[in-house]
Amino acid sequence: MSFINVLDKGYVRLVNHMGTDLAVVNAARVSYAKESTVLTDRDIRLIKFLAREGHTSPFRHAMLQFEIYAPLMVARQWWKYVIGSAHFEGTGDSLEAWNESSRRYITEEATFYIPATDEWRSKPENSKQGSGEVLDDRIGAKLTAELLVYIDSGMRKYEEALDSGVCPEQARLFLPAYGMYVRWYWTASLQSVCHFLNQRLEQDAQKEIQDYAKAILELSKPLFPNAIDQLIDRDLAQEEDVNEDRISSL
Ligand SMILES: Cc1cc2nc3c(=O)[nH]c(=O)nc-3n(C[C@H](O)[C@H](O)[C@H](O)COP(=O)(O)OP(=O)(O)OC[C@H]3O[C@@H](n4cnc5c(N)ncnc54)[C@H](O)[C@@H]3O)c2cc1C
Repeated sequence: MSFINVLDKGYVRLVNHMGTDLAVVNAARVSYAKESTVLTDRDIRLIKFLAREGHTSPFRHAMLQFEIYAPLMVARQWWKYVIGSAHFEGTGDSLEAWNESSRRYITEEATFYIPATDEWRSKPENSKQGSGEVLDDRIGAKLTAELLVYIDSGMRKYEEALDSGVCPEQARLFLPAYGMYVRWYWTASLQSVCHFLNQRLEQDAQKEIQDYAKAILELSKPLFPNAIDQLIDRDLAQEEDVNEDRISSL
């Protein structure tokens, strides 16, 4: 099992996986009642053929399961991946209930994503979404300080509301939610993971979810090197060469 830190306090952990490149090959070959035990050049050519021709069903016989700890703004974007994907929060409720569960029962201290002073980005110049260059450090320092004050104020009001006897599920209205970390399990087919990567490694995806997509790629690529090579846009896969330093075994 492996683990990669992302952002200031988040992470991605590979919990489990089913299959290898061979699972894709054998799922395709079952129609001829054939099975490979060792991956050969012929098998790799078959993976290339399947990906190129859009025969995607064999890629859905391999599965990956991750634990993710990310700010809510990232989680909301992730949640949009519904085909071949299941999202569960810690207690096993479906994602639709994740927000309720995490703060209704107050299972842990609220934790927030706080960009460092050199991590605040400008508005994009030629696009309505995304971001541009990093802002001047003095502006960044002011924004980081102001965000800390804002979070502190929200936390104090949240605690006061709890102290006044209100239920936790309403007290959480005082929490600055976009940057609040949430934890969940994501179980997805290899095809679905690659679909996520093709969209979220792109430059037009929000920088924070790009960082998580890089971690997902780093953890997945060693397990399915050929299939991922073929299913992911070539430029994106090459850009993200596995950085061993960022992977640590649990
Ligand atoms: C840069 C960027 C900006 C975005 N901005 C916004 C935004 O402003 N607002 C917003 O709401 N969302 C936004 N999204 C999210 C986006 O609209 C998708 O919901 C998200 O990327 C998940 O992709 P998907 O719908 O392909 O995934 P899934 O729903 O998991 O679908 C996977 C694939 O399955 C197939 N599929 C799914 N459903 C069907 C169906 N009914 N019939 C046939 N085939 C199907 C399609 O090929 C689809 O691509 C943005 C995404 C990106 C990458």
